Amino acid sequence: MIDFELSDSQKNIREMVRWFAREEVRPLALESDKAHTVPLEFLKKSMQLGLGSGTRPKALGGDGEGAGEERDAKGTKQGNRVSIILGEEIAWGDPAVVLTFPGPGLGGPPVQFTGTAEQKSRAFGIFKNDGVPRWGAYALTEPAAGSDVAGIQATARKDGNHYILNGRKCYITNGARATWNVVFATVDKSQGRAGHRAFLVFKGTPGFSVGKIEDKLGLRASETAELVFEDCKVHVDDLLGGEEHYDKGAKGGFTTAMKTFDSTRPMVAAMAVGIARAAYDVVHDHIRENYLLSRPIARYHVLAELIANMERKIAAARLMCWRAAWMADEGIPNSKEASMSKAYAAQVASWVCQEAIGLMGHLGTYHANLVEKLYRDVKVYDIFEGTGQVQRIVISRRLLKGL
Ligand SMILES: Cc1cc2nc3c(=O)[nH]c(=O)nc-3n(C[C@H](O)[C@H](O)[C@H](O)COP(=O)(O)OP(=O)(O)OC[C@H]3O[C@@H](n4cnc5c(N)ncnc54)[C@H](O)[C@@H]3O)c2cc1C
Repeated sequence: MIDFELSDSQKNIREMVRWFAREEVRPLALESDKAHTVPLEFLKKSMQLGLGSGTRPKALGGDGEGAGEERDAKGTKQGNRVSIILGEEIAWGDPAVVLTFPGPGLGGPPVQFTGTAEQKSRAFGIFKNDGVPRWGAYALTEPAAGSDVAGIQATARKDGNHYILNGRKCYITNGARATWNVVFATVDKSQGRAGHRAFLVFKGTPGFSVGKIEDKLGLRASETAELVFEDCKVHVDDLLGGEEHYDKGAKGGFTTAMKTFDSTRPMVAAMAVGIARAAYDVVHDHIRENYLLSRPIARYHVLAELIANMERKIAAARLMCWRAAWMADEGIPNSKEASMSKAYAAQVASWVCQEAIGLMGHLGTYHANLVEKLYRDVKVYDIFEGTGQVQRIVISRRLLKGL
């Protein structure tokens, strides 16, 4: 039987987070965009609710363990589904604020998948509910290696009990404020993907510094940092998964980077759904309140079709996210479905924001109008975690396997 219903506990989570997004997140949206930051008091409040602590309380579908391992009352894994419910709701409140919640962020999945028990305990152990916001981050992208993940140039040279890291990472979300970054580097460029390794690099490690903080078109409240590694000495204990993980001949580091996307792409896609819903809500209310009263009826058909198409596409995008997240929870390979959800949801969200601006006319272009901000924010959702083109390549490779 195909079941499209959320469980009662998932519905409760959604209601609680929807309330928080409406009452606490949305009022910050425009102000945080202008200030390029999110108030500390807000982050502390979000932690009290269990958002961004790295572990989730039972009320939010958690079991107090590392994020992603949550189970429902029947013991079924539901971490990915809970994440996409939270992602859609908070991104509806604000697409930049959702990226600033304390917690392991994109750095969580690689530690969860590849880390040893000791590394998980050290990495996730910092996210206590003690009211102090802390972050993890994921540092893969380099100036000359974004979509082309296999082409990373940062190097890791073994030296006794250490690895010496050299290179630069760029556009890293929360990278400067993070207590640790999962940093990808190569031990041997000639080995291509097989030479990739992932390291836990803690703040304060000698040779690790923060470069510039980016000034961006959108998501301005979210920190995007450049990270610099100059003879940065990292202990072998911080090689994610330990040396055995890579001795098996597996493309350990590259697989870690890619596997991360199987659970994070549906989450980012769900956030895009939240953005689309936010823009839809603004324009829907605007039309109901103003448009039909003052404009010729002939335009009604154009509006009606646009509104219906928006609703239809948002619903389809959401179902794609749910399917990809459900597969991740069930341990079913989902790379194709994760990419489909990301490619489609980002495209839908971009389209909805663009049409919303158009429908509102000059009002849509004012900084004080939420859709103007959403229009700027949404672009990045089609870029990070793999651009739309890259998602289509991933999908087609799976469809045309063997050719
Ligand atoms: C706000 C923000 C936050 C980010 N956060 C993080 C983070 O936390 N961690 C991290 O590691 N990275 C992060 N990134 C980086 C992001 O993942 C990359 O920007 C993204 O992967 C694209 O890489 P690129 O920017 O180098 O573009 P490029 O890879 O140079 O792509 C440029 C264009 O070429 C197209 N293209 C590339 N390859 C192909 C191909 N084979 N076929 C067809 N078209 C192609 C792309 O689709 C795109 O249109 C972030 C980026 C931004 C903007």
